[in-house]
Amino acid sequence: MRIDVLTLFPGMFNGPLTESILARAQDRKLLQVNLHDLRQFGTGKYRQVDDSPYGGGAGMVMRPDVIVPAIEKLAEEKRGKKSNKKEKRAWRIYLSPRGEKLTQERVEKLAKKDRLLLLCGHYEGIDQRICDGWIDEEISIGDYVLTGGELPAMVLIDAVARQIPGVLGKDESAAAESFSKALDRKKEYPHYTRPEVFRGKKVPPVLLSGNHRKIEEWRKDHLQ
Ligand code: SAM
Repeated sequence: MRIDVLTLFPGMFNGPLTESILARAQDRKLLQVNLHDLRQFGTGKYRQVDDSPYGGGAGMVMRPDVIVPAIEKLAEEKRGKKSNKKEKRAWRIYLSPRGEKLTQERVEKLAKKDRLLLLCGHYEGIDQRICDGWIDEEISIGDYVLTGGELPAMVLIDAVARQIPGVLGKDESAAAESFSKALDRKKEYPHYTRPEVFRGKKVPPVLLSGNHRKIEEWRKDHLQ
């Protein structure tokens, strides 16, 4: 999967993309994340990307004549000059508190796409005309407001990446986790490991019994 991110702060992505499972997924070419600095598309001497809102009010709004050319440039980009692979159009997402909530079901659908383009807003947000003409879906990571779309984009990339076949090792399967179809979209049962007794708290005896049928029943009973 290829994910292009349009952001004013590409440096924010360094930690999450360069560690652990996401780093491994990129090394193994299962995931390609391209960060694009929106400032490069800014206008004038100071590469301005925003302006004050029509109708007045606080804050700044990101301009359509900056964002749309950036989206269009990426839409034209191919996987690489030598690649013969037919490129699918990227599914364009604007991270926004006004968007549809990011759920596991939505994550699973996004993971089936060939390409995603993520637009991170800042300040008051973006000019509505961008959403009306150039965005396929607005996605929110929760009912609270963050300073920018970068953290939501990282959350989305992480959740989607672990659904790509081969990204998780065989000990880390995404098939039977909280909110998965396999668990009827419920929350997972509790886990325990050694020691058997920790500061007086014991592991439920059934998990030590070796009786797989009973363990399965116990786990099913403890889904939430
Ligand atoms: N004025 C907007 C409002 O009241 O809905 C908030 C803008 S917020 C300060 C700046 C940017 O952060 C947004 O354009 C969006 O990209 C991102 N953002 C903030 N909270 C978010 C959330 N819960 N989910 C997704 N993106 C969010």
